[in-house]
Amino acid sequence: MLDPVNILIVTVLSGIMSMAVLGSLRPAAIPGVGYWISGNTLAIVGLVLFALQRATPLYLSVMIANGIFSIAVLQMLQGCRQFFGRRPIEFGEYVCWAAMMIGFLCWTYVVPDINARILLASLFHAYVYASVGWITYKGHIPGRPKYSYHFVTATASLGALGHLSRGLLYGFGVVHQTALLQPNVVNVAFLGLGILALPSLSIGMVMLAHDRMAERLERWANIDELTGALTRRAFLARAEARLAQALANGTRLSIAIIDIDHFKSINDEHGHACGDEVLAHFGRVVAANIRATDLFGRLGGEEFAVLCPATGRADAVEQLDRLRTKIAGGGCLLSDGERLVYTFSAGADEHRRGETLAHLMARADAALYAAKARGRNRVMAG
Ligand code: GH3
Ligand code: MG
Ligand code: MG
Repeated sequence: MLDPVNILIVTVLSGIMSMAVLGSLRPAAIPGVGYWISGNTLAIVGLVLFALQRATPLYLSVMIANGIFSIAVLQMLQGCRQFFGRRPIEFGEYVCWAAMMIGFLCWTYVVPDINARILLASLFHAYVYASVGWITYKGHIPGRPKYSYHFVTATASLGALGHLSRGLLYGFGVVHQTALLQPNVVNVAFLGLGILALPSLSIGMVMLAHDRMAERLERWANIDELTGALTRRAFLARAEARLAQALANGTRLSIAIIDIDHFKSINDEHGHACGDEVLAHFGRVVAANIRATDLFGRLGGEEFAVLCPATGRADAVEQLDRLRTKIAGGGCLLSDGERLVYTFSAGADEHRRGETLAHLMARADAALYAAKARGRNRVMAG
């Protein structure tokens, strides 16, 4: 029969390997990783104490080992909450932890009962695993690959089920044992399942952290930090895809090229930082006033583009003109308290049969040029 001590040793070793990988993620400052590392460290200490059970006194191998191991899983749960931007650990959970420790004291020293201790610990761990599974299931960000989320949810759910059934089997007296490390089939199976769930969960958390880093990099590559608009590259790639979609569906598509008027003078008169504030303001106003299906990109400097699917030329001009009135009428409240009124000019045109995106954009750009020539603060059709 496989000795439970061996299972514990294997788990400790894989826990150490998980620590090495989690440690490498520390510099990326991903929320939750700090808790996952401390949870893993405590889990390793707890598991070593469990493994030494045959050679150490009860206060160490039962009280301290269980105390540390259950705090370890709570830290993992706390890490998940932080990772998904949820509220920190609940006060009630610490109360449950303290109640569990009192139960351990009773069933170790007053009325020694290992089955009751297994029931207590299993229910606590089942709750923590179920919470990790639920938080991860709810935490999936639409558009992100689902694999790592499913992996953690499945591992945590299996861990929860394993602990729950173990607790119930011992709690209802279906299985009895006299020592934690007794090498019987049920004990070995449950220890194996329950304990291996922890390193698997760590692997899943590493996957989640990698996905978060990939998402961050994609955001940096695709979103202009100052204005929140798509970067030029991302805008052109998505615009090509929208055009292909419009051609396939036989729907209309229009594009507007926008350029802020006399922006150089804004920089010259108020400073580059105020120029940046104006750009950020422009980005916010556009984002709040276009449709969810429109694409908004920063082509460079103070030049932007809005792509409007299912929209004809006249509607695009009208939409842009509403935006123009809003910006010219409102102005931007600068951080020094001054309100700076600025305007933009735009050229808009609709896609014609057989032409490329570059052709369409060149025509909208020519219309923008005409708007500038006519005195600025206007929207012209191509
Ligand atoms: P026009 O009405 O003809 O468009 O005149 P303009 O002054 O807006 O155009 P011009 O192309 O002469 O000047 C654009 C200025 O935008 C020059 C550049 O320094 C400034 N600019 C480009 N990117 C940024 C940025 O990210 N922040 C700030 N503050 N200024 C920028
Ligand atoms: Mg300009
Ligand atoms: Mg310009």
